[in-house]
Order: sequence, then C-alpha cells, then structure tokens
Amino acid sequence: MQELLQQKPEIAAIFADLHPPFQAQAAVIEADRCLNCFDAPCTGACPTHIDVPRFIKKIASGNLHGAALGILDANILGASCARACPVEVLCEGACVMHGLNQQPIEIGRLQRFAMDDFHAQGGRLPRKSYENRPEKIACIGAGPASLAAAAELKQRGFQVTIFDKHPLPGGLNTYGIAEYKLPLLDSLREIELIKELGVDFRFGVEIGTKTSLAKLEAEFDIIFIGVGLGAMHKLAVTGDQQPRVTEALQLIEDYKTGKTTHIEGKVVVVGAGNTAIDAANAAKRLGAKEVSILYRRTRKHISAFDFEYRQALQEGIRFLWLTQLMAIRASSEGITSVECARMEIGSGGLLRPIEDSTFHLECSMVVSAIGQSPMLELLAQCRDVQLQQGRVVVDRATGQTTNPKYFAGGDCVNGGREVVDAVADGKRAGAAIARLLEVAYV
Ligand SMILES: Cc1cc2nc3c(=O)[nH]c(=O)nc-3n(C[C@H](O)[C@H](O)[C@H](O)COP(=O)(O)OP(=O)(O)OC[C@H]3O[C@@H](n4cnc5c(N)ncnc54)[C@H](O)[C@@H]3O)c2cc1C
Ligand code: SF4
Repeated sequence: MQELLQQKPEIAAIFADLHPPFQAQAAVIEADRCLNCFDAPCTGACPTHIDVPRFIKKIASGNLHGAALGILDANILGASCARACPVEVLCEGACVMHGLNQQPIEIGRLQRFAMDDFHAQGGRLPRKSYENRPEKIACIGAGPASLAAAAELKQRGFQVTIFDKHPLPGGLNTYGIAEYKLPLLDSLREIELIKELGVDFRFGVEIGTKTSLAKLEAEFDIIFIGVGLGAMHKLAVTGDQQPRVTEALQLIEDYKTGKTTHIEGKVVVVGAGNTAIDAANAAKRLGAKEVSILYRRTRKHISAFDFEYRQALQEGIRFLWLTQLMAIRASSEGITSVECARMEIGSGGLLRPIEDSTFHLECSMVVSAIGQSPMLELLAQCRDVQLQQGRVVVDRATGQTTNPKYFAGGDCVNGGREVVDAVADGKRAGAAIARLLEVAYV
C-alpha cells in the first residue's frame, strides 16, 4: 500500500481541488459577513450541530486554533466534513443570507480554513480529563461512523479497538470520496488525531462469521457495527462478466490508491446518482475520450444533487436520459459497444422500452453505479440484531440495536447518506454506550 501511495502526486495533479481554499485575508472578510445569528439555523441544519457562528467569530478575530477546537468538539471529522459535506443542502442552505437576497456565508470553506491551519500547525486534541476505564468496545469498520464512536468513547476513558478489512482506515472517506473533494492523504491525516487518543486499530481483519462475532462478544463489553454498505448491484445483462466491466466504487478506489492512473477509450456509466457522477468525472479526468451516463428515467428523477449534476456537465459528461442498458457486446479484443433501448414513462410512472428503439453505443469500458447492496451476510450473523429492508434497526437516540450488546450507525443504519450523518450517528452511539457502561459498573 505504501508503494501505491507514492504515486499520489500524479493523481493529485489530475484531481486538483474543486473549491480552492481561502487565503487568510479573504477568510476574515467572509467571516466578517456572518451575522452571528441567535439560534443559528446553520447550526441546526448540521447533523453534528457544530456551533457555526462561534467558530466563524473566532476566525474573524484571528483565533484559528480556537475555531478548530470548537469544530472538533462537535465533529471529530471536521476537516473531511468541511470538504465533503453537501453544504448547499445543509448549513449553507439554511443560512439567513438567502432571505436577504445575499450569497450564503461560505461555511464549508471557512471550516476548511480553520481545519487546514490546525493540521498544518500539527494541532493535537486536548486531553479531556478522565480516568482509564476497563470496559472494552469493539467497532467493526473504520469508517466515519466507527471513528466518531471510537473518539467519543476513548475521550471518556474506555478501551476501544477498531477492526477493518481494508489496510487503511477511513472507509469511504479514504477510498470512496472524489479526490478533488477529499484527498486520501487528508483523510488519513485527520485519523491520526484519533490514533493519538489511543484507539487500537486492527487492519486486514474481516469480521464475517458467527465464530468471529462470538469471539468479539466474549472479549468485548459492547460491539459497534459501522460496516457501511456492501458491493454495488450487478448490471445483470449479457456481457456483464467482461473484464472491463467494473463497479464505480472499485474504479474510484483504484485511482485514489494510485492503482489506476489512466483510462483509455470511451466509457459508459450506468446509473445517475452521486456515485455514478463521481465515477464518470474520474474516468474523464483520467483520460477517457468520452464518458456517457445512461439513465432509465429523466433528469428530474436522478438522485444526484443538483450541484453534482452541474459539475458533471462542466466536466464534459454526456447524459443519455430514458435509456436502458440491454447488453454489453464484446469481441476477442474486449468490449466494443453497449446495446441500449429507449424508454418511455407510462401511466403511474411505469417504465417500458419503446418498440424497435434499440441502438448501439461504442465503448470499451462499462461502469456499474446502480446502488450499493446492504451487508446482509455479515449483518444476519449478528445475534438478535433486527434488520428491516437490509438496514440495522436502532433506537435513534442511542444507536442501540435490538440486542443490547450491539450498537450501530452510519450507512448500514440509514441506507447510505453523508459522512456527517455517519459521524453524528457514531458520536451519539459513543455517548450512549458510555452512559450505559458508566451506570452499569458503578
Ligand atoms: C462514491 C461515493 C462518494 C461519496 N461522496 C460523498 C461526499 O462527497 N460527501 C459526503 O458527505 N458523503 C459522501 N458519500 C457518502 C459517505 O461516504 C458515507 O455516507 C460514509 O462514508 C458512511 O460512513 P460509514 O462509517 O457508515 O461507512 P463506510 O465509510 O462505508 O465505512 C465502513 C467500513 O467498514 C469496513 N467493513 C465493512 N465490512 C467489514 C467487515 N465485515 N469486517 C471489517 N470491516 C468491515 C469497510 O472496509 C469500511 O472501511 C459518498 C459515498 C460514495 C459511495
Ligand atoms: S445563518 Fe448564516 S449569517 Fe447566520 S450565523 Fe449561520 S452562517 Fe452566520
């Protein structure tokens, strides 16, 4: 892995920052625009409830360290959330400036300004005063949900071990989020703060069998499930076993870890969610001659955020609406084209192919981006943990599952939302586990 990471400069050049950071003077000017609203709606719109006006005020007065500590107190992944959060629909979307016909305060960029400075100065989390406690908590998965739970628990003195099947921590923060939003190395740098708290990380460990779970149950007082979602749904058409049919998540992981640095030819991406757009943009930036997104319905039905869609248009991605993939055609040289049918939406929103509408689209690579499936195999092994439509059922306030020994949070509970939602879940569960153990052992 170390070897792969050394290729990063090449990738960094292709995936330059989407939103360049503030320069110091511009940050202060922007911070001065904030009205410091009482009952600030921006704070209410943040799932981790960062005190936005407070940290912005600190930036305005030049106290960047204080601003960063305030952010970290609410959100241990404040640096990655500053870069990856869809602020347009969260804090910035709620900013009162909209009602005054002015641009919302650039909260995400200001948060990044404070967090970048904190990391550049080698900032450390203040040690909260606590006594070491003997109770042990295992977190399955090292993504944002588990990281937030682990930090919360460790800061209260508990013994926390995180298990992950990958060689690096961070989950999708490290392996999935577009590099031009959140570089892999920035994700890892942020996790160093959590390592320094004394959380024990075990990499390359896949928890997947009844035996491995029984072992965890015997060794740990509480188990937190933060495994995210599973593999992407299969395309399930003729030709989907061709070597150049890949999953969007794999394509993204491969370039982020430096395994792929170039893509040739024409690429077809199937699906039109945020992941499809990230994969399409990546293929284009990596050199693909043409990238087309096929979607069965229309623009207004896509699950991607509007700003992601507009970004894709800027990157030169072509969208083919009302188009269904029917088959992937290949010769001995590899994929040559995809066969598609035009669709129409009938009464009641029912989709059907238009007769004799089949056409072929030349391409040499096909990317599946039609949603991730739940981790059913693993979740079904968790004793007495109830699932509903593949999601872990939890008490929303605590993250506790139907088996009191298990807690859960993040994508495996909410079905796939944002990093900040996973952090909020993990933090809430961490606090609830602490309360439970503190009461149980007095
Ligand atoms: C392509 C893509 C782009 C995204 N872009 C954004 C974005 O720009 N902004 C944003 O806010 N959100 C984005 N998201 C969503 C965000 O990444 C997730 O909501 C968030 O990472 C969920 O965190 P999590 O901890 O629940 O799961 P994950 O981040 O998925 O982490 C789960 C971890 O569990 C590990 N694991 C799984 N099974 C096992 C097992 N059996 N044993 C051991 N370890 C296991 C995995 O290896 C992984 O490290 C994106 C998602 C995708 C797919
Ligand atoms: S809503 Fe806007 S103006 Fe008010 S505190 Fe938040 S960022 Fe500042």
